[in-house]
Amino acid sequence: MLRVETYPTAAEAARALGPGARFLGGGSLVMIELNYGASDIERIVRTTDPALKDIRVEAGRIHLGALVTMADVLRSRELSFLAPVAQAVGGPAVRSAASVGGNLFAPHPYGDFTVALLALDAMVQTAGGASHPLEGYLADRSGLVTSVSFAAPASNEFAFRKVRRVRPKGASVMSMACRLSRSAGQLSGVRVAYGAMAPTAVRAKAVEQALEGATLDERGIAPALARATEGLDPPTDALASAWYRKETAPVHLHRLLLGENAR
Ligand SMILES: Cc1cc2nc3c(=O)[nH]c(=O)nc-3n(C[C@H](O)[C@H](O)[C@H](O)COP(=O)(O)OP(=O)(O)OC[C@H]3O[C@@H](n4cnc5c(N)ncnc54)[C@H](O)[C@@H]3O)c2cc1C
Repeated sequence: MLRVETYPTAAEAARALGPGARFLGGGSLVMIELNYGASDIERIVRTTDPALKDIRVEAGRIHLGALVTMADVLRSRELSFLAPVAQAVGGPAVRSAASVGGNLFAPHPYGDFTVALLALDAMVQTAGGASHPLEGYLADRSGLVTSVSFAAPASNEFAFRKVRRVRPKGASVMSMACRLSRSAGQLSGVRVAYGAMAPTAVRAKAVEQALEGATLDERGIAPALARATEGLDPPTDALASAWYRKETAPVHLHRLLLGENAR
């Protein structure tokens, strides 16, 4: 018999997790597993901790509670730069449940919001107060996520692009996000992240290297396009083959970087 346990704080919920227990975020994925009779889930652990619904901007940093949903992001004026990302997650019903925390755990080809967070160099806070760079957190994804935080980008510094076969709700053939920081007209400390190009969202480090010191124009980005999939081994699935993902990535990277069609 499935038991549902609700705790007033994230710390208590974290302590209640263990063998046979599953944390419930918005439930857009967990409920499907339960409906299909997931036999490994004996207890559902949830929390009503209001801190997990927080959206805060403090000293230039944005803090998003783990239970903030895609619909909450779309309603927030401070997060308008993330609206295209939240809008790209499922349809309206999914967006009203899908949480920021849950997105970090979504299996391939999902995880579009995580791609954006990776490009924003987000930190992940877990119950107990520890803080981890998102890239490292994605390697083992352990611990109950309470929030994510990142420096607010300057206007026009952040861009996101999702490639899908079915509009408006299709899953990613690939998704891409970048933060194009500049210093004296040259790109500096750029971040580029991809989704659906590996088992989890990944940074495109060869691209980042090639963009360092470059100008944001056709000539400046050419070396980065040539290295668009360096070091990556994209999966083949029902949406696209690894070959297709590799062949088309430079085209979409070009559009992402130069702002064509989809900012
Ligand atoms: C029809 C459909 C379409 C979808 N389309 C997209 C899409 O286009 N793009 C996309 O990115 N995703 C998509 N998804 C996947 C999913 O809705 C989102 O990724 C969503 O953000 C997951 O969040 P959730 O809160 O619903 O997760 P849940 O279902 O609550 O949880 C998912 C997993 O994450 C764990 N988890 C949740 N929150 C936390 C936390 N705070 N700390 C630790 N572990 C946690 C859970 O224990 C569980 O294992 C789709 C899903 C469906 C059903």
